[in-house]
Amino acid sequence: MVATNCKNRFSSADPHKVVALYDEFVALKSQVDSLRAERNENSNAMKGKLDADKRAALIARGQELKDQLAGVEERLSGVEAALQREGQRVPNLTHPRVPIGGEENAAVLKEVGSQRAFTFPVKDHVTLAEALDMVDFESAAEVSGQKFYYLRNAGALLELALVNYAFNKVVSRGFTPIMTPDLVKASVLEKCGFQPRGSGTQIYAVEDSPLCLTGTAEVPLGGVYMDRILPEAELPVKMVAFGHCFRTEAGAAGMAGKGLYRVHQFSKVEMFVLATPEQSEALHQELIDIEADMFTELGLHFKVLDMPSGDLGAPAFRKYDVEAWMPGLQRYGEISSASNCTDYQSRRLNIRYRPGVAAKEAGADSDGGAEGKKAGGKKGGGKKGGAGGSGGKTEFVHTLNATACAVPRMIVAILENFQQEDGSVVVPVPLRPYLGGMEVIRPPA
Ligand code: AMP
Repeated sequence: MVATNCKNRFSSADPHKVVALYDEFVALKSQVDSLRAERNENSNAMKGKLDADKRAALIARGQELKDQLAGVEERLSGVEAALQREGQRVPNLTHPRVPIGGEENAAVLKEVGSQRAFTFPVKDHVTLAEALDMVDFESAAEVSGQKFYYLRNAGALLELALVNYAFNKVVSRGFTPIMTPDLVKASVLEKCGFQPRGSGTQIYAVEDSPLCLTGTAEVPLGGVYMDRILPEAELPVKMVAFGHCFRTEAGAAGMAGKGLYRVHQFSKVEMFVLATPEQSEALHQELIDIEADMFTELGLHFKVLDMPSGDLGAPAFRKYDVEAWMPGLQRYGEISSASNCTDYQSRRLNIRYRPGVAAKEAGADSDGGAEGKKAGGKKGGGKKGGAGGSGGKTEFVHTLNATACAVPRMIVAILENFQQEDGSVVVPVPLRPYLGGMEVIRPPA
């Protein structure tokens, strides 16, 4: 079942190899255990009064056992490392309703609005934004390189308006607002299912440092509850963060090369949820509903897609993408993505909950090694000396992440959909309060 799942997800992981390594690990471990037991017996035997011959024989056997043990232990640690490495490559299982295959097999779950009929020749977002003096690609190319940009005038204000709008919307749905670090440890990226190094990585690593520039606030948010045990009553935990995303976009050469569509750095408002397995499917729906409500309110025409197995990456059990119509590009473009990662990330991040434990009984952790972490920082779980609730079975939480607003793609969609014949752009009504009431973006005087 796992091997078929890997094939369906276009993953090169080899579960048969993992099984073989595990068997080898178990066999070597038992060899190590019995050699250690024999060595202990041998040294105990030397404690009494012995004649010289017997003592010499025991010393020789002791040396033999020591050498054998060193050899087997070395093999064991090599096999253990390989088991970890190969095991980590195995992707999450897949929701039974997910379509099997590549991108072309995405299933449309919902469609909102329709393509606007234009009565004039349509411009793309680059032409519009340059004429409105909202972007400066030239200076960005000098200062940072290709696929960077400055936002200027209404462009800069529009980013802030979008971020504020999305933040407020999501906070009003009960999410805790958070500002996250943009630099994270490579180890935390790995635990969230990203590859910080190697060919084809999307991650910028900082030289001579364990840090990387994060590609999404999902990583610092996933790390908030790392190594903790939460009381069940505290779930779901709902967070929304503003963060910058940095992506090498390796392998994306030539794809939507010009403009804001695919860039190396962008701002994003991201939702992240910790839930019980029973809650996670309904929360996945809640996340996509929040996204759809915002995009509808902004007046975009879009489709919600159930992404196929080959497009899920390693962590997602199920993923819903939203694609909005972009008239200048003359195609639908992805503006957001919502994933249920079930326990894939929480196993690596070691985030668990104790079923049946009320919030106030929360915190003592008897088996996670996380006792006392973050005492007093947050409610509940993991707090040192917590008032009971320890003991009993723990389970891994489910994690979910979803884009509330990926700024540059929203700017593309807004400029291209709401352009007027004279090159000005009508501001969607919900954003106007965040732009000092501006109704139309016109070139600066
Ligand atoms: P992801 O975290 O990869 O699911 O991306 C979240 C959202 O960010 C996507 O749905 C896109 O709207 C946007 N996005 C991803 N990559 C880029 C990029 N290189 N430039 C601009 N926006 C991006």
